[in-house]
Amino acid sequence: MSALPLALTELEQDEVFPSLSANQISSYLDESIRFGRESAEGYAYDGNLTRWMDRMIHAGVRIRFADRKNGNHTEWVRAQYRRKPPSIYIYRFSLEQLKQFFHRSGYRVSENDLIALHLFHEWFHHLEYSRLGRTDLQLPKAVKKRWGPLTLKQPLPRLREIAAHAFTQKAMDLPWFPLWLDHLLLLSEQGWSKTRIREHFHQIKNRYRQIMEPEERR
Ligand SMILES: [Zn+2]
Repeated sequence: MSALPLALTELEQDEVFPSLSANQISSYLDESIRFGRESAEGYAYDGNLTRWMDRMIHAGVRIRFADRKNGNHTEWVRAQYRRKPPSIYIYRFSLEQLKQFFHRSGYRVSENDLIALHLFHEWFHHLEYSRLGRTDLQLPKAVKKRWGPLTLKQPLPRLREIAAHAFTQKAMDLPWFPLWLDHLLLLSEQGWSKTRIREHFHQIKNRYRQIMEPEERR
């Protein structure tokens, strides 16, 4: 499953999404993915987690493994970045959940790679503050409201998540957009069958196609 339809599901959650045109949606998706990918230049993960953690710690970032449970499954927090002081929190339940998921699916994935998956996403958010600038402030703001000659513009915070996923995919050379895994995990935890999950991804692709191909709309 390609990055664009998945990125769309992220953008759809932005408050201003309903007021965006198809062209704007298309360019926001392209630009945020490009921003994330290009930012991964020089950050290729070679499987050596210790070295990467050292590099991050040397850059002044604390890395913490936390036990916090996440009761609410619709708003999933796997890891977090906090600015003051710069810290990355990785939640153990998330590592455990991913481990079990891959085990059930018959894949052998090392725990280090699962940690790296979380770490690179949050590392991108650190880079946004230390080097790159926030993704949503680098890309054009959207018009939220027009009052005569006055326009109220607003940044789109979800672009930061799309870029962080694109960054992680590129840095770790993953064949899939990391958001795909989030969807997959959420739905299989909710007990959805493989067929129903496949249908879900199919619907996402269709929604994306309908927006991108206006002649087929309605
Ligand atoms: Zn994030």
